[in-house]
Amino acid sequence: MNISRRGALKVAAFGAATAAGARKAEAREKKTAPPDATGMLYDATLCIGCKACVAACRDANDLELEKSSTLYDDPVDLSANTCNIIKLYDGGGDGEAQVSFVKQQCMHCIDPACAAACMMGSFQKRQNGIVTWKPERCIGCRYCQVACPFNIPKFEWDSPIPAMVKCQMCLAKAGTTEEGQLNEVGQPACTEVCPREAVIYGPYEELKAEALRRIAENPDRYEDHVYGLEEVGGTQVLYLTSKGVPFSKLGLPELGPEPVPALPVGLQHTIYKGFIAPIAVYGIVAGLVWRTRRKSDAAGEEVGA
Ligand code: SF4
Ligand code: SF4
Ligand code: SF4
Repeated sequence: MNISRRGALKVAAFGAATAAGARKAEAREKKTAPPDATGMLYDATLCIGCKACVAACRDANDLELEKSSTLYDDPVDLSANTCNIIKLYDGGGDGEAQVSFVKQQCMHCIDPACAAACMMGSFQKRQNGIVTWKPERCIGCRYCQVACPFNIPKFEWDSPIPAMVKCQMCLAKAGTTEEGQLNEVGQPACTEVCPREAVIYGPYEELKAEALRRIAENPDRYEDHVYGLEEVGGTQVLYLTSKGVPFSKLGLPELGPEPVPALPVGLQHTIYKGFIAPIAVYGIVAGLVWRTRRKSDAAGEEVGA
């Protein structure tokens, strides 16, 4: 049987928890999006797979072109240099409903598992609900990657001082502020360039209403479900899919309404309950990372996207 590294990490985490008698996840109150939450709505029925959003994302975030990017299919997945990707689902049958593109990037969860898992506070939920990360705080433990139900954060494997990378709704590189002020046209790079408005940006409540309106007015065009309204407690990136193409075919996992943080927080609290050593080790590692990053910054080195 093939067990991926990610799978092995998850198994190890669960095993440790079991040994510690930590089966019980902490009950958590369901969170709601902040009143001024923003987000994105991706409508797979409108996407033509042009990948203008992929190129715009790379430019806006100063990311390098993947070295193997010579074919349409490349880059094939999210990576430390690809925060946004378009994939093709081909069901193999006749008819448009058997083929669909799908955009993949951070879902900006309302109750983000990455932030709950990160003991260094590198991942944070901002005032407008966007989930961002601070590379200077990251010690590369990859807890966030294991915790994320969508497998989004990626590790900078080829960096001398690696950190995690993911979509921050263009916060870091597009002249944005924590209040959600984006670039001069007021939106992320991917929504700005999309020629079909297959992905749009705006106030979360308006996006929810728009998604539901499209389904109600075109019941033969869409599956009767807005992905992200309920999954893992809600996400600020919402999806619509074509009738006959379930979200699971587009790589969006079937998830319940319970926020994932209930699990990692419960695990951490149980595993480390009463342990001073892990905290001390984290403190030392964090100090070393911080010092190294300062030296690198002073030397003008690139330390993260
Ligand atoms: S999709 Fe993953 S990385 Fe993005 S906010 Fe949710 S848990 Fe965090
Ligand atoms: S919001 Fe910005 S960082 Fe996120 S996928 Fe779009 S272009 Fe990339
Ligand atoms: S720019 Fe728009 S139409 Fe083109 S691939 Fe991206 S989401 Fe689809």
